[in-house]
Amino acid sequence: MLQEVEQLIELQKLDNRIAELETKVSQVPAFLKEVRDEFESVKSEYATVKVKYDTDAETLSKLAKECAENKALLDKAQGKLPNVKNNKEYEAVLKELDVLKKNVNEGEYRILELQESVNASKQKVEELEAKEAELKASLEEKEAQKSEEDSEANTELTELKTKRAEAQSVVKKSIISKYERVRHARNNLAIVRVHEETCTGCYIKVPPQLYVEVKKGKALHQCPNCQRFLYALSDD
Ligand SMILES: [Zn+2]
Repeated sequence: MLQEVEQLIELQKLDNRIAELETKVSQVPAFLKEVRDEFESVKSEYATVKVKYDTDAETLSKLAKECAENKALLDKAQGKLPNVKNNKEYEAVLKELDVLKKNVNEGEYRILELQESVNASKQKVEELEAKEAELKASLEEKEAQKSEEDSEANTELTELKTKRAEAQSVVKKSIISKYERVRHARNNLAIVRVHEETCTGCYIKVPPQLYVEVKKGKALHQCPNCQRFLYALSDD
């Protein structure tokens, strides 16, 4: 095989692995994304439920205070009954008692109703708090895993880049500049096999004469369609 072809194949191998590792480092893996999404969703649900719980608990405490005041007023009004002097006064006290009793009853009913909702919210808040803590721990674990994987990948990347610089240094500058131009234009792939007269980069047939030349392996050739460098193996 032509020396330049061997050099470019070696370079391409390194570029493939570098691209693979760079993609891996830049991506959020599924195992991390899943936990992160669930954590964010529980966190947001917790925030919503907590606001409702806090608001309802505050309303409940206000209602309890109002109800206690109304009960005190009711007691006070009941205390007036033995001292009424006439029918008119009696009627007036009864009327006042009616209003106060109604207020107290309504207040107690609302308190019961709200208490139920506050209890349910409290339970939900506690559940979500526990779930959030659990997911946070799991998320930290997955993040540590990702960071460890990235660190391994970065070590390998550093080594690969050194190897690549060495591999590049032995190739003619004019070939390297063509290789790089094609690689950047063609999705990181600059040298491909020609198989059954077809370029395996763009899957278009190469002219028969070019195919013969590539098979001879005496010079460097490029695909007329995608410009990738071509090489052939003995069984191509
Ligand atoms: Zn091609």
